[in-house]
Amino acid sequence: MTTIIDGKAVASEIRADLTGAIETLADAGARPGLATVLMGDDPASQTYVNMKQRDCEEVGIEPHHVDVPGDAAPEDLYEVIAELNDDPDVHGYLVQSPVPDHVDYRDVIRRIDPMKDVDGFHPENVGRLVAGDARFRPCTPHGVQKLLEAAGVDTEGADVTIVGRSDIVGKPLANLLIQKADDGNATVTVCHSRTDDLAAKTRTADVVVAAVGIPELIDGSMIAEGATVIDVGVNRVDADTEKGYELVGDVDFESAKERAGAITPVPGGVGPMTRAMLLYNTVKAASLQEGVDVELP
Ligand code: NAD
Repeated sequence: MTTIIDGKAVASEIRADLTGAIETLADAGARPGLATVLMGDDPASQTYVNMKQRDCEEVGIEPHHVDVPGDAAPEDLYEVIAELNDDPDVHGYLVQSPVPDHVDYRDVIRRIDPMKDVDGFHPENVGRLVAGDARFRPCTPHGVQKLLEAAGVDTEGADVTIVGRSDIVGKPLANLLIQKADDGNATVTVCHSRTDDLAAKTRTADVVVAAVGIPELIDGSMIAEGATVIDVGVNRVDADTEKGYELVGDVDFESAKERAGAITPVPGGVGPMTRAMLLYNTVKAASLQEGVDVELP
């Protein structure tokens, strides 16, 4: 029997565990605050930002939001960033990506106070992660680690193949899983668009993580019998639904399920975990900035 890893359930446990820490902070006069910044009016980004705001409200984190017109100068965005860096009520914030073409996202990231960088993308936080001393683990890779733990998958000595080398998923996840740590100690192979014979790399893995952005690229024939499959992909494909599309992962769920020992669905797998780990990082940011110790899940 294949286990379907329920990301919604694991995420809701983490959120429940975080509420204790949030109350401890609030009692000390330091209710955590998270700000989102949206430049432009991309509908998908708007949806993501709304979800993050709602998540905050549900767990008792104070949500803040700043809209920046899509045609504003980069300096206008930098001004917003400087204000958030100085705002004591905002413990963490993020600038929703993608930003318009005339803005260099790396310039944006470098301006964020690393102590408030709850996405974990600032070079200082990336460096700390690589050095094995992470301050903020990026939300999606951290969520994948928590899902593996919840599914009882021991990464120590495991062969893990990650498909995708992005700065937000593939690279940080690879770095986390090779750390000498209980939730690391894996032997990691990172595949990407120039990988020769992808199937040969996935077929021998105990754990396959797909973070590519190509619908159903990985099918059952590319999975070892009994392997764990974590599907990070979220792709809109045309479908005869009310919205005119449906969401599918980077894994062909039906065929992969036939061979995998455990697999995440899309939606309901990694997505809810990413959202929960943003709340986790916000609570951690507040705890560090306010000097109030809390127990994190
Ligand atoms: P990206 O576009 O930045 O990177 C994609 C990676 O896939 C690249 O490293 C590229 O080299 C690799 N790739 C492209 N074609 C390939 C091929 N044929 N074979 C092997 N590798 C190939 O993507 P990203 O931001 O990491 O996102 C990947 C997917 O994950 C997207 O569907 C995205 O929507 C989704 N995502 C989901 C969450 C979540 O919370 N569920 C979070 C982040 C990203």
